[in-house]
Amino acid sequence: MIEQAMSSAISLKQVEKKFPPNIQALDAIDLEVADGEFVVVVGPSGCGKTTLLRLIAGLEEPTRGSILLFGSDASVLSPGQRDLGMVFQNHALFPHLSVFENLAYGLRARRVSKAEISSRIDSVARKLNVFDLLKRKPSQLSGGQRQRVALGRLLARDPKIRLFDEPLGSLDPQFRNGMRGELARLHLENQRTTLYVTHDQTEAMTLGQRICVLKEGKLVQQGSPEEIYECPAHRFVAEFFGSPGAHCFEGMMERGDPEGLCFSSGSIRLSLPAKDGLIGSVTLALRPENWFIEPPEKAALGAQVRRVENLGDHRLIEVCAEGRPIVVKTYFSGIRPNETIGLSPLWEEAHWFDSITGERIEPIRIPPIR
Ligand code: ATP
Repeated sequence: MIEQAMSSAISLKQVEKKFPPNIQALDAIDLEVADGEFVVVVGPSGCGKTTLLRLIAGLEEPTRGSILLFGSDASVLSPGQRDLGMVFQNHALFPHLSVFENLAYGLRARRVSKAEISSRIDSVARKLNVFDLLKRKPSQLSGGQRQRVALGRLLARDPKIRLFDEPLGSLDPQFRNGMRGELARLHLENQRTTLYVTHDQTEAMTLGQRICVLKEGKLVQQGSPEEIYECPAHRFVAEFFGSPGAHCFEGMMERGDPEGLCFSSGSIRLSLPAKDGLIGSVTLALRPENWFIEPPEKAALGAQVRRVENLGDHRLIEVCAEGRPIVVKTYFSGIRPNETIGLSPLWEEAHWFDSITGERIEPIRIPPIR
């Protein structure tokens, strides 16, 4: 009884999926999703996101490892026996059925009474603002409206587990923001276990209570959005999150002259505010907001401004420093293309990674100086 109460809604242990002839889509995945939790799995195209959902839904079988749903071995449950619903990028609505019939389909299949179907569809259609569209066919709806109906179908059935596969991928950015807000609100109202996959780091950061980062079939980090952004476990995570992500310098940590430490990468040489630390090859990652803009004579690095992108409250400055393109985020409005500016790293915010494995390391201790 106690074990049942403590078990996760979704539990994957050492799950592997290989497709013939020898495609390793997923490798040794350990993942626990608590009842009611909203977890986002994020990663680039081909990293195994859809495969992960299909395994949980029972549309594929793992090559190795086990999947438990609310503590029960999923391998003995057919897709229909798993109490879950899926929303895809391409809506997958029945084109010949009206919106009402599309919403009712899953309920009829489960022999829900007519009165109950009407009442649930009424409530969901009002919630998702598709009430006036109930008589239309999918071809008479906009992309955003179709996606609302696909979501409505899931909400009307209200399965214990919700699986989303890039549900906002086909919407234009303006609708995407609205739907993102709506999904977050719906989860707050009715906290069902949700696994949401996307390649969009903004969606992951804004929706996920927890984010799992997938790279080439492996989970490289799991954590809260803050942990993922502020403490990336892998170089890939630092480069993937942010708009744009961190810029990585592959280089060498050496003893400074006459003392301290110096990091060099190509013709860039940066003195560090640390007395000692790990010497050798290392990767430095700095985010666009991890630079001070200073007069060139005072700064660690001189840079030529190539382009200034005005994003309202802040600007992204594309510069060239020692032949390297870097993006710097600033709230200054006075910077113009072609001028020379000085840049100094905000060392307390820098991330360091092993040059071979890409894993996070702490080669130096930076005292908080500013
Ligand atoms: P995307 O974001 O482009 O949809 P994804 O992260 O969802 O990608 P998957 O669709 O899970 O990635 O695919 C993971 C890997 O497995 C890819 O290399 C893909 O080509 C391969 N793959 C997926 N399904 C099959 C299949 N049925 N047969 C063979 N290979 C497959």
